[in-house]
Amino acid sequence: MTTHSDNNRIVIIGHGLSGLELSKELLTLAKKKSASISITVVDSRDFYEMDMGMPYALLQKQDINAESYATSSCLQSQLKVEGVSYKKDTVRSVAARSGGGFTLLTAGGTTIEANVVVCATGFTIPVLKPATGMDWGARREEIDALRAALSTARTVVIAGSGNAGVELAGEVRLYVDTASGCKVHLICSSDLVLNDTFGEGDRRHITNKIRDAPGMVLHTDRVVGEYGKPSLSPSTVKLKSGNTIAADVYLPCFAKFLAGEYLSQIDGAALSNGQVAVNQESLESTAVKGLFAIGCSDIVQQEGHISSPKIMGQVKTVAANVLAYLAGTASVVHTPKMGFVKHDIYSIFGTGYFSMLHTEKCGIPGMCCRYLCGFPFPCLFGCCLCGCDEGPCGYTCMRPAGGGHAKAIQKFKVSGKLINSVIGHKRDNVKKGLVDDDVTVQPKTYTYTKSAVV
Ligand SMILES: Cc1cc2nc3c(=O)[nH]c(=O)nc-3n(C[C@H](O)[C@H](O)[C@H](O)COP(=O)(O)OP(=O)(O)OC[C@H]3O[C@@H](n4cnc5c(N)ncnc54)[C@H](O)[C@@H]3O)c2cc1C
Repeated sequence: MTTHSDNNRIVIIGHGLSGLELSKELLTLAKKKSASISITVVDSRDFYEMDMGMPYALLQKQDINAESYATSSCLQSQLKVEGVSYKKDTVRSVAARSGGGFTLLTAGGTTIEANVVVCATGFTIPVLKPATGMDWGARREEIDALRAALSTARTVVIAGSGNAGVELAGEVRLYVDTASGCKVHLICSSDLVLNDTFGEGDRRHITNKIRDAPGMVLHTDRVVGEYGKPSLSPSTVKLKSGNTIAADVYLPCFAKFLAGEYLSQIDGAALSNGQVAVNQESLESTAVKGLFAIGCSDIVQQEGHISSPKIMGQVKTVAANVLAYLAGTASVVHTPKMGFVKHDIYSIFGTGYFSMLHTEKCGIPGMCCRYLCGFPFPCLFGCCLCGCDEGPCGYTCMRPAGGGHAKAIQKFKVSGKLINSVIGHKRDNVKKGLVDDDVTVQPKTYTYTKSAVV
């Protein structure tokens, strides 16, 4: 059980996967070490939305409450961890006090004092991820507006062809009416989609697959002008080549890290790209003691990408080092989870149509693991070898080719297995009677029980 202590106040900014997992890990570790801590989690939104599979969840033709969006999102109040205090507000600034510790100021005008601050604010991508401070009703209206705009669109432009852009383009292509001539334009700044942490062979493979997909137009070009602003109504997209595209819907898919917005009072704490600058061994800020980051620091440059395994690894290190900092003991050295995997584990271009897992630079020692066995046991199923379907493990180790593994991913998403960390936690809370699960979201009117996010 956590006890509150004036000297051991930990504030976590952000209650996504990173913030939730950190609060659980801190409580477990503090109990083991008989340390007394108090944890406050501040999040700008009253709801949680699962990034994983979100392009699929956003782009369904059924009612928003009837399918995977409902599985992949929930009110923050349903994700509470016993012993943690919650505040729904947006942190505007963090200032380091001269004698140690921090003073946080929120948009709502609250001042919060902390001995340790952990930034877990993730990144945003317009429309694909909800904006900071948005509430669940407004988000549902935004999703409805997106679906409505895409239903009648003749030209959709998606700019940015990293993993999120490719995933979004694939789902948009399946959503719009390509049979009647709607075109989905994907703007890619190089000849190949995805970044160079992926193997070149895989990038070429998926690039060709996208180029060949009916309804897709792949451009090697760059968007210029006000390219960061999405538009669900007609607009002109300008390209570096001088070409323009008259778009009915324009969706930029560039990630923006947010720490720069609230850490500006601490010199050197945030990089110009919005990531927190951390010591790569301790994950503590290089600018000030007692400030840590998970999922939004420049460790991503070393780890290669942000994914749930990487976040879980960072959670372990940060939890240990927060307690070490408070106790005045030596910090542990960060060991990245799945250190051998430097790129996103898979790339999806349209669920049910095409995806890949374990690409050529997967790092698992020995090509046999990729081609001849289901790690760690030999896989005797030919279906895996021909690449047209998933193996008994639910994955395939093959280069991108078939659509079977996409179906496997879809199953994971919808059943919630992939997202068990968060949604499983919510289920446990409901079982324990800690939350009231009768959140009623009425289609179109979006009234819901706004139960206590304190
Ligand atoms: C489209 C997409 C697909 C992905 N697919 C996968 C996948 O299949 N597998 C995988 O492992 N990973 C995947 N990822 C990557 C990764 O797992 C997620 O990005 C992860 O969910 C990030 O969690 P987080 O808690 O760090 O950030 P977020 O979930 O973004 O949470 C950040 C929280 O911080 C809050 N916040 C921000 N600023 C403030 C502020 N100033 N004050 C208060 N609160 C604030 C926000 O409201 C938000 O709730 C995917 C990412 C995307 C975008």
